[in-house]
Amino acid sequence: MQLVADVVESYDVVIVGGGVTGCATAYFLAASDFDGSILVVERDPTYANAPSARAAGGVRQQFSTPENIRIGLFGADFVKNVGQYLSVDGDAPEIGFKERGYLILTTPDGLAPMQENLALQRAIGANIAYRSNDELTARYPWLLSDGLAGGFLGLENEGWLDPYALLQAFRRKAVSLGVKVIHDEVTGLGCQANRITEVRLKSGVSVSPGVVLNAAGARDATGIAAEVGVELPVEPRMRCAFVFDCRERIGITPQMILPNGVAFRSEGERYFTVVAPPPERDPATVAFDIDYALFDDIIWPALAERVPAFEAIKLTNAHSCHYDFNTLDENAILGPVPGVDNMLIAAGFSGHGLMQSPAVGRALSELIAYGEYRALDLSRFGYDRVLSNSPLLETNCY
Ligand SMILES: Cc1cc2nc3c(=O)[nH]c(=O)nc-3n(C[C@H](O)[C@H](O)[C@H](O)COP(=O)(O)OP(=O)(O)OC[C@H]3O[C@@H](n4cnc5c(N)ncnc54)[C@H](O)[C@@H]3O)c2cc1C
Repeated sequence: MQLVADVVESYDVVIVGGGVTGCATAYFLAASDFDGSILVVERDPTYANAPSARAAGGVRQQFSTPENIRIGLFGADFVKNVGQYLSVDGDAPEIGFKERGYLILTTPDGLAPMQENLALQRAIGANIAYRSNDELTARYPWLLSDGLAGGFLGLENEGWLDPYALLQAFRRKAVSLGVKVIHDEVTGLGCQANRITEVRLKSGVSVSPGVVLNAAGARDATGIAAEVGVELPVEPRMRCAFVFDCRERIGITPQMILPNGVAFRSEGERYFTVVAPPPERDPATVAFDIDYALFDDIIWPALAERVPAFEAIKLTNAHSCHYDFNTLDENAILGPVPGVDNMLIAAGFSGHGLMQSPAVGRALSELIAYGEYRALDLSRFGYDRVLSNSPLLETNCY
């Protein structure tokens, strides 16, 4: 479609969406030897409803896909040394990384695949250990291990951070390196001969792009791709996070994952918990209404079954936001798309996009600057698998 604009500007790279993926890519590109101009268009600079600001902040290597393990290792190294990368004028960002591990509990049925994952994770360099029921009970006396077959604990490089702080750190550093971030909205794309020739903004400005990166996130990446005829198997799925009090203190916990997928951890004096609902309660939606029944029906019973102290708890807070859920295989979709020569996609992170932002931002910056992946080959996350309906299934999704 041809669009008519009031003002025309030109950028070598236009990034649609200034969430953590867009800002990380802008940062890595600006920090590399790429000397083109970079524009990030962000509709809501408050990020009030952006997943990048509302994530749980988890960082881990306990995945089943080798690339995700490597992405997790780079991400952990990046956040642990964030001051080296993202300081501005000597001011290092405070992103609050708490290196307290993930402890993924397993049942006898789940043990064999988890052991396989463990072997893979360790072979790639992740420091993950198996803990028997007895070891769990000795270390976490508040936990009931009946019916479990132990758990898998990240001994280093796993934990959680402040998502909004990481997002802002990428954004601030990118701006300091010359990236232009504007408050505007991409309302349309114009194409000619397999190229996006125009990025239309709500303000009336039209941008002539070299490359367009679609990093518009859970609620919008699919619509932006559809503008140029590309179908993404990515839909917004609501995730509700809850905070509760418990009079009986159990102390500092790792990020616990219970066998039914309920996650919880201590946060100061309180506890944070979240779960992916079962498929029949997990439709595509852009609604934000908190599903309190999820807490009563699924989360609380699971918490109380494993931690007797949690039989008496008080819900104090809750919020909701959206996963960019890849219905094909719950892995990211990255890189070029067929039929459009100058568009890249970064979508479908399915709950891992925050921790993946350092490695993904670096990888996308390499694709843009050099036309190839260099530090880490992420080509298996390409769109080709969508076309050929060949899922690259990630099984460790929480
Ligand atoms: C409750 C919850 C818990 C999570 N926990 C974790 C976790 O523990 N660890 C982890 O790694 N990940 C987690 N995630 C997932 C993570 O938040 C996302 O994968 C990640 O933030 C994706 O970042 P993004 O930049 O790709 O997308 P987004 O954060 O969605 O950012 C996209 C941005 O694009 C902007 N935008 C959209 N359309 C337009 C347009 N047309 N014009 C201009 N701007 C536009 C939006 O305003 C938004 O700011 C969680 C998510 C949720 C909801």
